[in-house]
Amino acid sequence: MRLVRASPVVQTRAVGGPADQPDYLNMVIEVETVLEPLALLRHCQAVEQLHHRVREVRWGPRTLDVDIVAYADMALDTAELTLPHPRAAERAFVLQPWAWMDPQATLGGARVSDLAARAADRGGLALFEPTERRT
Ligand code: AMP
Repeated sequence: MRLVRASPVVQTRAVGGPADQPDYLNMVIEVETVLEPLALLRHCQAVEQLHHRVREVRWGPRTLDVDIVAYADMALDTAELTLPHPRAAERAFVLQPWAWMDPQATLGGARVSDLAARAADRGGLALFEPTERRT
């Protein structure tokens, strides 16, 4: 797998799930890969496990969540994998970092930056600026 580009990190208020969750940090990356979609999903899940993902409550806070937002122009709807990700087109925390990374990006025929501007949760999003850095 080769990293093509990476978005800035955005800080977002939680969408759905339990009340009083802390903010989330989100970013989007673009990769080139020889992995087929399902193998890529397995890889994402392995990465989550490697980062000691912990989640006790569905939709609740977790240490790491790695989703496949889109895989080229492929459309897929199976029990395990839906492409593009079924909620990506509504979520500013996906769309805005994606649009910053790739201003020309499109999703389902629409420009990602236009979708980001219309997303209901866009008010809860800000560029993440760490207050302290560890060396
Ligand atoms: P979550 O733990 O919230 O990331 O949800 C992961 C579940 O969603 C897994 O069981 C996957 O099989 C399923 N899933 C369906 N489509 C996707 C996708 N595009 N990216 C990641 N997970 C997906």
